[in-house]
Order: sequence, then C-alpha cells, then structure tokens
Amino acid sequence: MVIAWLRSSGCEMRVILVVCDGLGDRPVKSLNGLTPLQAAKAETLDRIAAGGECGIMDVIAPGQPPGSDTAHLALFGYNPFETYPGRGAFEALGVGIDLGPGDVAFRCNLATVNEAGVVVDRRAGRISSDQAKVLAEALKDIRIEKVDGVQAIFYHSSEHRGVLVLRGEKLSRRVSDIDLHKTGVKVPTPRPLDDTVEARRTAAALQEFLEKAQKILKDHPINQERIKKGLPPANALLPRGAGTIPKIEPITKIWGIRAAAIAGGGLYKGVARAVGFNLIQVPGATGTVNTNLRGKVEAAIKALGEYDLVFLHIKATDSVSHDKNPEKKVEVIEWISRELTPLVDEVFDKGYYIAITGDHATPCEVGEHRGDPVPLAIAGPDVRKDRVEKFDEVSCARGGICRIRGMDLMKILMNYLGKVPLFGE
Ligand code: ZN
Ligand code: ZN
Repeated sequence: MVIAWLRSSGCEMRVILVVCDGLGDRPVKSLNGLTPLQAAKAETLDRIAAGGECGIMDVIAPGQPPGSDTAHLALFGYNPFETYPGRGAFEALGVGIDLGPGDVAFRCNLATVNEAGVVVDRRAGRISSDQAKVLAEALKDIRIEKVDGVQAIFYHSSEHRGVLVLRGEKLSRRVSDIDLHKTGVKVPTPRPLDDTVEARRTAAALQEFLEKAQKILKDHPINQERIKKGLPPANALLPRGAGTIPKIEPITKIWGIRAAAIAGGGLYKGVARAVGFNLIQVPGATGTVNTNLRGKVEAAIKALGEYDLVFLHIKATDSVSHDKNPEKKVEVIEWISRELTPLVDEVFDKGYYIAITGDHATPCEVGEHRGDPVPLAIAGPDVRKDRVEKFDEVSCARGGICRIRGMDLMKILMNYLGKVPLFGE
C-alpha cells in the first residue's frame, strides 16, 4: 500500500492520540478464533497501521490488568504506581468540580437500604437524574460539627451517581470504601486505613456526613413518593474510591506543548484535566455506544489546528466487551473506523502524526479487564514504516515498535514532535 505524505511548508507538527477503551481482546470462539479486531473490516484503522509503525503495548506492566484511570496515567507518560491519587478525584474533576490540594473526593451512589441498614439496591432503582438532583440539593446544608474545620460538599453527576468532597485541614484519602459493590450486606462504617490523625479525621467526618444525609434522604418527599409508587427510595449514600488531586507536573509543562482532550466519560475527562489537558466539550459525547462520535471527530480535527497534542477517547469498545458481546464489538470497531476517516485524511494530508491504541484488553469472553498487551500503531510523515498492514493484536506484534510499556508511549510521540531534550552532549 502506497501512501503519499504531503507536508505543506511551515505546517506545525501535531499528534493525535486515539484511545479505544478496552480495545484489546483474545481469540473468540464465535468469531472462528479471531479477535474482534481481526474479524472487523476496519479500512481506516488498517491505513494507520500500513502507513506507519506498529507494536504491542503493556499499558501498566506485562500481565497487570489496568483500571482505565491508571492506564490513562501511563498513556500520558506518568508512572501510575507513583502518581495514582485514587479514582474519586478524577471523577470530581470530570464533572467539572475544581479540587484544591488537600480535598478528598469520593464517587458516591445513591442507594436503597432497608430498616436494618442492609443494601437492597446499589443504584436506587436507577433513579432519574432529575430526582437525584433534587435530593443532592437537599444535602447541601449539611454541616460537619464533630470534626473541626471540615466542610462537606455533595454534587450530583448523572443518574444515581454523585461526588462527595471533604474539604479542610488534615484530611486523607486513606479511608475505607462504603460501597462494597454488593447487595445484601450491611452498610459498613468508614474506617481509617492507617494510624494517622488525617485518616481518623476523614473517617469521622465521612461518618457524620453519611448519618446526616441518611436522615434527610429518608424523610424527603421524593422518597416518600417513590415508596408510594413501589419504587426503591434513594435513602442512603455509598461512597467509594477516596482520592486527592495528583501531585504531578502538567503534561503541557513537561513537554512544552498545548494539549487538548475530547472524551465523553467523566473519568477520562477527569484524568485528562488532572494532568493538564484542556477539555473540549462536545455536545452528545456521552461515553456510551450512542455517543456523538462524528462530533468528537470534527472537534478533534479542529483542535489539531490549535494544539500540539490532541487526545481522543472512545468508550464504546469497552462497554460492549463488558457486555460479553463480541459481534457487537466487531460492529463498533467498524463504526469507529468509518467515523475516524475524515480525521485520518486530515492527518495524512497535513503531515501530522497519529497514534491509535487501547488502554487495556477487555476480552469479550471474560467481560473484565485483563493484562494482555494492546495493539498500537503510529503513523506520520517520517515514521519508519514496517511491514504490518492490518491493525489487530496479532499483526501489530510483528511490527517495528515491538513490545513497549504504556509509559513509554508519550515520549515516543513527543520525540516525533522534537520535544524531548537531549540526554548527554
Ligand atoms: Zn478502559
Ligand atoms: Zn472497562
């Protein structure tokens, strides 16, 4: 396959990083032993592979199943083992909350508990956003009185989800999860996870907030109404994933670049914001299979006019993998490939760089994240082409990038932009 690269003189160097969540997979029986990527007809993805260099990537480390949050930290060039600040902070940043140093944020579910304090429904019958918003509003006047100098702020995010921020002196993210991801268990009391004043103060403040919240929620007219209609009341909060903002140098400073992110899911927006990306909001970008991918691609093309690095996140591949639906994953990959076409045209026309990969494998037959390496392709005007012509796990393993770690990717991309300083003389 011959690809003509045109780089008009004076054109800026740019790179777009496309991450399809949970893209990597294993041979699937119902696909005759092929992976969904192998089974898909994805011409545009193959164009990237054929036009550049391919490899496979252990996003965290060989055999280590990554969470999407730690995986993205690695893809952005940070050591996740040193910088991971807990998921709550990313969630908060993702819904637009500005966290200060020292703030501790939790992801929260509005849930249903019975008289004995046992969790009956972790999502309160998937309560609507409209009702959840009113309930969140009723929690805004809760004052923490038993722990000095701590303020609690509760935000609604979407449907049954919210974010709780504890703000004040001497707080820690070392407190236990209240949401045990199970029904039929008693709601636990928050426990400090280490023997520090900070952890004890945080657990006590959390405890007080939860007790007060439960009282308000129990008597709230919305819940009375739900009970009358036979719906589960949202009468408890289940926080988890306590987190603080990471102490890291922004990606823009490290490399001296302008960086923009386009994502639908709150978590991805949060990680991107935490490391210094500017967020570009796209209407209808939902982080689901029904996202406005066309709008995201248009926004990415536009952003390449202004930013050195553009990150585009696509969630749908992971969602269908968790649903254990390989046939749908093939469809989703083919859809992504079609929708990326104008972006790849733009990249090839302008002589930009593009990297496409996944943040982890989510094998469809397993339905969970696994530590298998993910395929990676990087194309650009002066990238050494290898002989790989198809973008999939097996073909990419024969490519010139060979096998790298996720943390190496950002430096490889910045090297093409000429942003990596010389080591030695
Ligand atoms: Zn992921
Ligand atoms: Zn996932």
